[in-house]
Amino acid sequence: MNAPRPVHAPMAQFPVIDDCLQVGGIPLTRLAQRVGRTPFYAYDRGLITQRVALLRKHLPAEIHLHYAIKANPMPAVVQHLAPLIDGLDVASAGEMRVALDTGIAPGLVSFAGPGKTDAELAQAVAAGIIVNLESEHEMERIAALGAGSGTRPRVAVRVNPDFELKSSGMKMSGGPKQFGVDAERVPAMLARIGQLGLDFQGFHIFSGSQNLRADAICEAQRKTIELALQLAEHAPAPVRSLNIGGGFGIPYFPGEQALDIGAVGAQLAPLLPRLKQRLPQVQVVVELGRFLVGEAGLYVCRVIDRKISRGHVFLVTDGGLHHHLAASGNFGQVIRKNYPVVVGNKVAGRERERASVVGPLCTPLDLLADNMEMAKADVGDLIVVFQSGAYGLSASPTAFLGHPAAAEVLV
Ligand SMILES: *Cc1c(COP(=O)(O)O)cnc(C)c1O
Repeated sequence: MNAPRPVHAPMAQFPVIDDCLQVGGIPLTRLAQRVGRTPFYAYDRGLITQRVALLRKHLPAEIHLHYAIKANPMPAVVQHLAPLIDGLDVASAGEMRVALDTGIAPGLVSFAGPGKTDAELAQAVAAGIIVNLESEHEMERIAALGAGSGTRPRVAVRVNPDFELKSSGMKMSGGPKQFGVDAERVPAMLARIGQLGLDFQGFHIFSGSQNLRADAICEAQRKTIELALQLAEHAPAPVRSLNIGGGFGIPYFPGEQALDIGAVGAQLAPLLPRLKQRLPQVQVVVELGRFLVGEAGLYVCRVIDRKISRGHVFLVTDGGLHHHLAASGNFGQVIRKNYPVVVGNKVAGRERERASVVGPLCTPLDLLADNMEMAKADVGDLIVVFQSGAYGLSASPTAFLGHPAAAEVLV
């Protein structure tokens, strides 16, 4: 007997009425008319708000929540989130502009990323945001910029810890990495920050992304706090900010289940009193991207052709990997798996079948769903890819093959 086929976690965040998905209370078919064209991304602002509330409910009250803009830089989304969260994390001067356009206080914006240019550093210094230093060279360059402009740049040190976040979709620490400064070199760097007269704010320790296991996240948080306490002994000024990263994942693929955020909060709370005692001025920050916006977004495209090739059904759509690289399996996946995909205007459908959803590009990589069980779809029907609110449009090769851009709406 075969083991049961793993299934996708239920996508219950979008209600279904008369077999049609509803986004922000609007039937998907009507939303498509309102947008005026397909393909498009739709983000549900109510779901984003709920997500922040969920985190506030389960994480200790003193934790500050930051949004990592790279997950979804659509200005309307960032504007919506800005008053709900405690800070914004940017990874380019472009993202910095989007962050500052919200009216947020510059001291609540931090800028991480290897390879910041002098022009970007100068913009950050002028804005008064916190720069997470990724190397000794970057530290010297920002100090020179500060001296040249008569300002005292606000800096934090991004640390490459000597551990990694286990079972992460993307590891960003441990061993040799392009991110941050190796933990063992940080004490010497802190002494130099003091000599240079930089305005030292604290540490940024980000160990991984897309993790669905509360115990793995908590283990990394415990080690992060331990490391910060050791490094703090060398700090040139009181540690005011400790960004312990995030890594909270969302279920994308069959067999995956939602992260138990209650367990994360319950295990984080007891770590804080000792930290506060040793570093009384410290503000602990958790920075999240996909967990805040990923489940609130859909990618919607329309069936242009329905083809049967040697018994296999292909739904050819006007959307594809040029708008949604991640759903095609080409954004960091080792083995291609299907995102949750449904026919948005026939969710259950009268008839069901197995089909592959492909895009218009002349490459076999342009695959949005591979041999998936779904409602039987016809030309004109709307195909929906769930879990598309993060790393969607902005993480896709939109110029590839020169098809029209996707629209984006916040509903
Ligand atoms: C990408 C990134 C994030 C966001 O990761 P998610 O998996 O979307 O939560 C947070 N912090 C840093 C430093 C990042 O590079």
